[in-house]
Amino acid sequence: MIPGTIPLRQPPSWQRELARAITDPAELIRILELDPALIPPARRAARRFGLRVPRGYVARMRVGDPDDPLLRQVLPLALEELPAAGFARDPVGDLAAMTAAGVLHKYHGRVLLTATGACAVHCRYCFRRHFPYAAANPAVGSWRPALEYVAADPSIHEVILSGGDPLTLSDDKLAGLIDALAELPHVRRVRVHTRLPIVLPERVTPELCALLTGTRLQSVVVVHANHPAEIDARTFDALQCLRRTGVALLNQSVLLRGVNDDADTLCRLSESLFAAGVLPYYLHLLDRVDGAAHFDIDEPTARRLWRRMSARLPGYLVPRLVREEEGRPAKTIVG
Ligand code: SF4
Repeated sequence: MIPGTIPLRQPPSWQRELARAITDPAELIRILELDPALIPPARRAARRFGLRVPRGYVARMRVGDPDDPLLRQVLPLALEELPAAGFARDPVGDLAAMTAAGVLHKYHGRVLLTATGACAVHCRYCFRRHFPYAAANPAVGSWRPALEYVAADPSIHEVILSGGDPLTLSDDKLAGLIDALAELPHVRRVRVHTRLPIVLPERVTPELCALLTGTRLQSVVVVHANHPAEIDARTFDALQCLRRTGVALLNQSVLLRGVNDDADTLCRLSESLFAAGVLPYYLHLLDRVDGAAHFDIDEPTARRLWRRMSARLPGYLVPRLVREEEGRPAKTIVG
């Protein structure tokens, strides 16, 4: 170091990886050696919902295979622009359930806080792909209205941090939010819904683990993996690290045509998750969001798949097959 200079503080490696994510379809298609004819439709579809995918996640995809199950989750397609009956911009009634800026209060005893609009990956089937984060995201201004809402309702025992992805927040911001929630005596649990440990495992740092365990609140982390190929050695290690801290660690998946719509893949996913210390929790039927109709699986087929899983796995490895329906007091159990 040159005497008299102040060393620049490097952001943590996960933030650098987040910033290096691929956002241009042409780059993704080139890296994977796919047909350049895919570029124009991908660019058109990405105008409605941008491409975003971390490079480490792309490294798990098969080169030269346009049907790779990880690629299908992130590559914008012309199919997204086709209108589809029954598909809507807000398929699960998020806006009707918003009771304060960024607070969705649907179910008894718990609320969901859209802590940020940012994600590490843009999943093409995401039910919040049209969500107006700019208007509804409390992090843009402050979390005060959300915290005041939770403070005023002693029936709220659990706060779900969602988004976007709450683990895209810096440790300082996340710790500030969790500390503020811990000051509310009726809040018992904080639940973090996140895809980062799967798509950007560098996010699981000793500092993050300390933050999740250094609170009086019980911490629950619900990750989101859809295919066993998502769990490579690095992700496996990150999940095991989280598990060792003692937080409850669950997974939710979405049943997606062309990604995981066969019993063998779903069974391997459950096995891989459990080996890494994660319990399979929910298998969601697709939320019928505008632009994602090509991922849909009908309910009888979904039930058949679920029954095949049940016949092959111990009960604790079989996630609940559920659908979210607007206005219902809980998820509807389909299988
Ligand atoms: S990480 Fe979650 S919130 Fe973000 S795009 Fe994917 S499914 Fe949607």
